[in-house]
Amino acid sequence: MSGVLVVAEHLQGKLRDPSLEAVTAARELGGPVTVLVIGADPQALVPAVSVEGVDEVLCAAVTAEHFEPDAYLAAVDAAVGARDFDAVLAGFTVNSMGYLPALAAKRTLGFSSDVFSLRRDGDAVVATRAYYGSKVHADVGFPAAPVLLLRPTAWPVAGGTSTPTVATLDVPAGAARVTHVGFEEAPQGDVDITTADFLLSIGRGIGEKDNIETFQKLAEKMGATLSVSRPLVDAGWMPASRQVGQSGKTVKPKVYLAMGISGAVQHLAGMKTAGTIIAVNSDPEAAIFRVAHYGAVVDLFAVAEELERQWAG
Ligand code: FAD
Repeated sequence: MSGVLVVAEHLQGKLRDPSLEAVTAARELGGPVTVLVIGADPQALVPAVSVEGVDEVLCAAVTAEHFEPDAYLAAVDAAVGARDFDAVLAGFTVNSMGYLPALAAKRTLGFSSDVFSLRRDGDAVVATRAYYGSKVHADVGFPAAPVLLLRPTAWPVAGGTSTPTVATLDVPAGAARVTHVGFEEAPQGDVDITTADFLLSIGRGIGEKDNIETFQKLAEKMGATLSVSRPLVDAGWMPASRQVGQSGKTVKPKVYLAMGISGAVQHLAGMKTAGTIIAVNSDPEAAIFRVAHYGAVVDLFAVAEELERQWAG
């Protein structure tokens, strides 16, 4: 086993969780784990990536201070060219989608995005991913080193510490076709539903736009973050940043309280790995009950009123 290369991703000087989730996946796959840090000052992130199970950190200094796909592609290409890895892993993020498919194409490597399970089968790496709106899960075998982008939250974030060897990697300079222009924070007041421990998620069952305020207030009272199913975004009632599901965000809170959500496959794809799922739906046949740990077949407004009362005192 030659080992697994994990490509680290960072934003505004901070390592992002998908990179540490990829370390967990790499450890599960077995063999030495090398983390590649690319940036203007890659050494600065060595402590952050020195988590349990990391054997080596490769530092690739590039002139780009922020993420730039050409610089990152050149760096990962140099790492893969210098060493035989069994697999290249990274989080399935907007950044990685901007250059890692190009690496696979350039080096004629196998590629899959949105992988949520990994194993070895002899010399092959087998990745599981969903197709047809999550109706089908397929194992895809790669006899030679693949490039795999891992679904956020599908693996736990690696923790602990290690004392990996630290090496530098020379990256050939090349012309950048895309350059970083600026960084804008998400609009004030918007939240990141992927990091919330407790999501109160509402769907079409709430009936009309005016009812959203009730649930927003309830979420605040309970210390929950409000998320929604797609119809509420399509209707323009809530921003896309709050949408859970296949075309929204993948979430893994400790508690997911779904009210008035039927449980379409596209919704389940984004939340079925939550710690505890509680579903409130007036239809006993609703598909959400198939993944729920607790369920109540009851009117959601009655539940909302009762929760209001419980949290009032
Ligand atoms: P509905 O399916 O209409 O369900 C409403 C539920 O509320 C029903 O089960 C009903 O019994 C219940 N209800 C009604 N009134 C009450 C009441 N008073 N008390 C209790 N229960 C009540 N959807 C997503 O959510 N996220 C995605 O990312 C996503 N991506 C998609 C991508 C594609 C390519 C496609 C084709 C679809 C996608 N969808 C997505 C849409 C998805 O197929 C469903 O249409 C959607 O999830 C349904 O949302 P819902 O459960 O809120 O509404």
